[in-house]
Amino acid sequence: MDGTTQVTTPAVLILLGPPGAGKGTQARMLEEKFGLVQLSTGDLLRAAVAAGTEAGLAAKAVMEAGGLVSDEIVIAILRDRIAEPDCARGVILDGFPRTTVQAGALDELLGESGQKINAAISLEVDDGAMVERISGRYTCGNCGEGYHDSFKQPAVAGVCDKCGGTEMKRRADDRAETVASRLEAYHAQTAPLIAYYGGKGVLQSIDAMGQIDDIAAEMARIVTDVTG
Ligand code: AMP
Repeated sequence: MDGTTQVTTPAVLILLGPPGAGKGTQARMLEEKFGLVQLSTGDLLRAAVAAGTEAGLAAKAVMEAGGLVSDEIVIAILRDRIAEPDCARGVILDGFPRTTVQAGALDELLGESGQKINAAISLEVDDGAMVERISGRYTCGNCGEGYHDSFKQPAVAGVCDKCGGTEMKRRADDRAETVASRLEAYHAQTAPLIAYYGGKGVLQSIDAMGQIDDIAAEMARIVTDVTG
């Protein structure tokens, strides 16, 4: 066995937090540990941009400027992806919802299939540290494993620990100017969701300024608790 702990019912977990809080890193760890599927609307949109689809063409400039893509486009992309068979194992939503309209659409979508949100986990961080965190990050172009110039380097420089890939990528919107716009969009449009999920009784908040492994352990404890 690979140490994966399957959750007993299809869980729906939401990760909330500003850009750079570590949502992607933690989602990947939960995916491995619990056999859940990471759904990142950022990844889905970047794939749509790369493929040159209609949605991708509409999203490209907004993403480059650090703004939020329209609810209509993002909800349509999420709706299609979550309907795929692998998502029946349970999902970790990474970067969705980001507006109250998206949160309402998610409630409706889950209601249609009789599912509910097990937890919305808010990763709490200091804004000031986010620019450094984001501008130092990069991923393996082959498997998507995340690294950071200061906080998480591969054992051999330039070689992915996970798959041995040697092509590392940095995101186009991880430049300092764009990061400021993304943080602004987070505070204006996404942060209100913390109260929204608090009101539904599913909010869990964790201090996400510490070590990646400590945060992962805390996340795993919450997931075990809400899915057990
Ligand atoms: P992320 O990878 O989650 O940081 O997302 C990268 C960019 O994709 C964001 O800055 C937005 O432009 C766009 N994006 C991702 N998810 C959403 C969403 N749920 N709503 C609107 N825009 C999104």
